[in-house]
Amino acid sequence: MLQHPNYIGRFAPSPTGPLHAGSLVAAVASLLDARAHHGRWLVRIEDVDEGRTAAGAADAILALLASLGMHPDGEVVWQSRRTALYQAAYERLRAAGHTYPCGCNRREIVDSRLGLAPDGAAIYPGTCRHGLAPGRAMNSLRVRVPEADGGADLVAFEDRFAGHREQRLASESGDFVLKRGDGYWAYQLAVVVDDAGQGVTDVVRGADLIDSTPRQIYLQRLLKVPTPRYLHLPVVRNANGEKLSKQTGARAILPGDEAAAVQVLQDAAAFLELALPAAGSLGAFWEAAVPAWAALLERRGAA
Ligand code: GLU
Repeated sequence: MLQHPNYIGRFAPSPTGPLHAGSLVAAVASLLDARAHHGRWLVRIEDVDEGRTAAGAADAILALLASLGMHPDGEVVWQSRRTALYQAAYERLRAAGHTYPCGCNRREIVDSRLGLAPDGAAIYPGTCRHGLAPGRAMNSLRVRVPEADGGADLVAFEDRFAGHREQRLASESGDFVLKRGDGYWAYQLAVVVDDAGQGVTDVVRGADLIDSTPRQIYLQRLLKVPTPRYLHLPVVRNANGEKLSKQTGARAILPGDEAAAVQVLQDAAAFLELALPAAGSLGAFWEAAVPAWAALLERRGAA
C-alpha cells in the first residue's frame, strides 16, 4: 500500500441532478485513492449555486453512494450552509486589496472579444479594475490576477495523471469572479475555502476541472492555505464523443439489488482501466479494487 501521512480526499458533487457516469467515476476514483493511501474520504455537497440545485438530488446522490458501499469518513458538508466562511475569505482578500467590484454584464464581456477561457468562461478585459465607471452599479466581485509582465501571472502544477500543466492567468482567465451578479459565491472561491477548511490533501476529480485548477491555486496562495495534490481523471464521454451530462443520469440502485450495484462499480472500474475479476458482492468489489488502484498508480508513477 502507498505511503501518505494524513491523506484526506473528497468527492464534491453538485446536486444539479442524479449522478452521471462521469461523476460516478470521480466518486469511485477518489474513494479508491483515499483507501489506497490509508486516508480519509469526505463528501461535500456543492450546492453553493442554489439556483441550479435540483430538489432531492443531494439526498439521491448520498443514497446512491451508500447503496454502492461508499461511506464517507466524516459528516457530509453542505456548501449552502457555509456562506459565512466564503464571506470571511472574501473579506480577507478585499482587505489585502486583491478584489474589486465589477459593473460589467456577461454580454459586455463577451463583446470585448478576448475569447473564452478553456472552461468556457469569457476572459475578462479588466474594464472595472480601476474603479466602476460613474453611474455603473456593482454586479459582481472579482479578484485581480497579476500582470502578464515578467510572467508573474503564470501558475504551474504537476497533475498526478496529466503531468505538468500551466496557465497564464492574465491572458487565459483575466480577473475572475468571486461573487456572482446573482448573489451566489463562485465555485472557485467556495472550493478553495472548503478544501482548505476540510484539510483536503488530495483532489481527485474529472478533467473538465483541470483548467480551473490554476485559478484555485492562485486563490490558495492569496489566502495562504496549502495547495493539495491534484489528479484529474479522463472525461467520460458517450458513444458520440460528447461529455456526459444530467440527461444520462445514473439511476438509483434499489435497496437489496446488490448485483446491480456491483455492475455500476465494475463499469466505473473498467473505465479507470482497473483489471478486476468479476465480483459477487460489494465487499468483494472494494477488496479487489483498492489494491488494483494502488498498482495502477505505481505503474503510472502517480502514487
Ligand atoms: N462540484 C463540482 C462538480 O460536480 C466538482 C468540484 C470539484 O471536484 O472540485 O462538477
